[in-house]
Amino acid sequence: PPDVETLGRSTWTLLHTIAATYPTTAPREKQDEMKTFMNIFSRVYPCWVCAEDFQRWIERPENKLVPGREEGHLGGRASLEQWMCGAHNEVNRKLGKSEFDCRRYEERWRTGWAD
Ligand code: FAD
Repeated sequence: PPDVETLGRSTWTLLHTIAATYPTTAPREKQDEMKTFMNIFSRVYPCWVCAEDFQRWIERPENKLVPGREEGHLGGRASLEQWMCGAHNEVNRKLGKSEFDCRRYEERWRTGWAD
């Protein structure tokens, strides 16, 4: 299996790309889908210590994914992107890496695309 760093880099690419392609305003069905995806992801991510901490982060009241709220993390792309950025920064802090400036999220993961 890949080492934790290689797995992490690839996984963040997938997660941030998913957030960057989420609908601007997400219909209920998409919100439910994303909540299910992230919850299952947090249980199957094959770095078990990582998954455990990530599950704990997701369970905090302020981070919980609650569908059906227009103002919630699942309401649309901008909100989900900031949530994902916060999730990644939590790991960055834990590992002693510098935090990413979430205002640059779209530039890094969406509009900056070469194609
Ligand atoms: P990465 O952290 O992989 O980041 C890749 C790129 O994403 C960066 O170069 C930057 O351009 C961009 N980026 C950085 N921060 C953000 C942000 N906040 N928002 C948007 N873009 C950003 N490793 C462990 O050792 N222990 C753990 O407990 C652990 N938990 C993890 C939990 C999850 C859910 C995931 C997906 C990974 C976890 N990892 C963990 C792996 C770790 O986060 C890194 O992926 C790994 O250490 C490689 O780091 P890196 O410096 O190459 O850049």
